[in-house]
This record gives sequence, C-alpha cells and structure tokens, in this order.
Amino acid sequence: MARYNTEQKRELIDFLTRNSSRSFTVEEICRGMEADPRYISPPGRSTVYRLIPKLLDEKKIRHFSSEEGRRQVYQIMGGMECAGHMHLKCTACGRLYHVSVPVSMALSSEIEQTENFKVSAGETVIFGTCSHCLKGDKK
Ligand SMILES: [Zn+2]
Ligand SMILES: [Zn+2]
Repeated sequence: MARYNTEQKRELIDFLTRNSSRSFTVEEICRGMEADPRYISPPGRSTVYRLIPKLLDEKKIRHFSSEEGRRQVYQIMGGMECAGHMHLKCTACGRLYHVSVPVSMALSSEIEQTENFKVSAGETVIFGTCSHCLKGDKK
C-alpha cells in the first residue's frame, strides 16, 4: 500500500517534471497522465488531490491561481532555485517561464531603489503573453 502510494507520487512528479514549463489543474494532471502510455496506472483524481498537499509541503510543486483566480493550478518547482527568481506567466497558454537570476535581480533592485519596496523575487509572477503566443503558435 505504502509502496503503491510512493510509486504514484513518483509518477506524478515525473509527469510534472516532463512538463515543467506548464501548470496544470488536478483535472489536467489526471487527463494528461491517462493519455500518456508511459504511466501504467495513473493516479485517480482522489489520489492526486491527496498527493498535492504533500508535494506542496515538500516544496516540490507550487500553486498559482489561474487568470480568473477560480482554478488552482500546480507546477513543479525547479528545486530551491525557483525561490530566487521571478516568473513570467502567459495568460494565453498558461505556461510559466523562469526569469534568469541576473534579470530578476536587476528588476528587483530597480524597484527597490526607485520605489523603496523590497521585492520577494520568488513570489513574483509577471503576467503577459509569451513568445509562442505572440507568434500565434498553437501549443
Ligand atoms: Zn523558476
Ligand atoms: Zn503563451
């Protein structure tokens, strides 16, 4: 039983890691894993709901509110590195991008100096439209 849970957790992390630039609702995680033949016994919704708080606790994933703020979406974290930089969220396709640390630090210090406001880079998400969507690519 415990081993089975561990396996499902591992597969869930594997799925999110393979799609590390995207964020998913629980529903999308389930559908995505079911559609992928790599996962022999994809976890059901109740299992995903149960695993997500654990992964949040372990800081393996982070959660965002979707554009409308009505849905919770989840995305794998690149370990502790993600705590040190800002992220860009595309409102058209939902992808999340990591801002490089130098750019992130430059923006933070600019705001800190001009606005006298200390930015928490790891918590900061800038919304906009990504290069794929600007080009009109379908995802
Ligand atoms: Zn990041
Ligand atoms: Zn996009």
